[in-house]
Amino acid sequence: MREIIAPLSQMLKSGEISSVELTNKYIKAIENDNPKYNAYVSTTFDKALENAKTADKLIAEGKGSTLTGIPMTLKDNICSDGDLTTCCSKILEGFRPYYDSTVWTKLKAQGAVMLGKTNMDEFAMGSTSETSVYGAPLNPRNTNHVTGGSSGGVAAAVCANIAAYGLGSDTGGSVRQPASFCGIVGLKPTYGAVSRYGLIAYGSSLDQIGVLANSVKDTATVFDAIRGVDEHDQTSVDFDFGNISDTLGQTDVKGLKIGIAKEYFEGINEEIKDAILGAVKEFEKNGAEIVDISLPVLQQALPVYYIIACAEASSNLGRYDGIRYGYRAKDFNDVEEMILKTRTEGFGDEVKRRIMLGTYVLSSGYYDAYYKKACLLRQNLIADFDDIFNTCDVLIAPTAPNTAFELGFEGASPVDMYLSDIATVPINITGVPAISVPVKNDKAGLPIGMQIIGKKFDEKKILDVAYFYEKLNKSEVEDFEGGVTL
Ligand code: GLN
Repeated sequence: MREIIAPLSQMLKSGEISSVELTNKYIKAIENDNPKYNAYVSTTFDKALENAKTADKLIAEGKGSTLTGIPMTLKDNICSDGDLTTCCSKILEGFRPYYDSTVWTKLKAQGAVMLGKTNMDEFAMGSTSETSVYGAPLNPRNTNHVTGGSSGGVAAAVCANIAAYGLGSDTGGSVRQPASFCGIVGLKPTYGAVSRYGLIAYGSSLDQIGVLANSVKDTATVFDAIRGVDEHDQTSVDFDFGNISDTLGQTDVKGLKIGIAKEYFEGINEEIKDAILGAVKEFEKNGAEIVDISLPVLQQALPVYYIIACAEASSNLGRYDGIRYGYRAKDFNDVEEMILKTRTEGFGDEVKRRIMLGTYVLSSGYYDAYYKKACLLRQNLIADFDDIFNTCDVLIAPTAPNTAFELGFEGASPVDMYLSDIATVPINITGVPAISVPVKNDKAGLPIGMQIIGKKFDEKKILDVAYFYEKLNKSEVEDFEGGVTL
């Protein structure tokens, strides 16, 4: 996988190119390529050029960091002051927040350049990005296929290098799965590692902001820049990670205990199984110890996830009433009718389905049978994952049971779609970190992603292990050619 950030930073610091020039190249590339991929849903080019001027000043004063002057993108559910942020939903049509998310505040302070907001499933609910009100983004690897979701636009933009990197959100896999489908790297940090202030909420006990990039080093660099405790997010945690990006590769693979849970490989496509186990062999050849484990609780992860995520979504999405944000229905006789019509017209089918499911599992009479039970089972999952990390350093698993679907798979039943999240949701339920890296292509030439999972706040270890794999150069997924060339 190619590193993009450090080499660009080098060019900026040596004066070979200015940030304004680099930003103009990205703007040109977006103008050329975005019609092919539908990755961006709104652009902020004027602001990007302002950011670039600030960056050039910082660099001239010798104050820049590695991210200074580098153009990037935010998923359409991460707020930046005055810029359209719509969650790709009609109900947030025209919505411009009046404050910056903490992640963007941090990046902006370092002189990052934001090119625009990228496509996603409506309110981050989905696995293909096809529920976007702007239409689906297309996978640069094969435009007849989806990008995955819900951070599909970020994945397409980063894969096609019309953004050097991007931030997405991951509630049940939405950073890792699109990264896997587009053949790039995606990191879902530990719950609490990155502030969610300014991330539009979906399932608050599951949501995390994550990084999509073209290499493990790029991913680590961005993670180092965005993490940390934040007074605006009470779930954020003060944890001393040290500087991960500058010390990558310190974890010794010799003697590393890699857990392989058989349940993770049951019922998945053989090609994917072989690809992941093939990659695990590479670690074994280099001295890692494979520990076969059983995690029967994995079977409960999907129902637990869909009950908790929908319950929390039904509550979080209660605020879209036509009064405070975005879209408002035109004809109504009283406030109640206005709210009803606004919500009926403003939300898409999948979002409505989840609000109804969530309301149902929280309703009196069903609360104990569904929501409470799911919360109890969640504790079992957490306990079993804790146990595993007493005997293993990392777990390795597929990122998804399939590669990128053909466009239109959404026509299949919603349950089929939910089933495809089986490998990613346990990570959000338990709050641990995981990274997806590309390992191989399937017969159709579509990338397969491997998930490396660690215990809470062990980002350093999973990034190290991912970096080790990347350096072995055994991944068959080629860098995508296109976008900005220098
Ligand atoms: N596909 C999962 C869902 O639809 C995950 C989405 C996400 O992580 N935002 O809930």
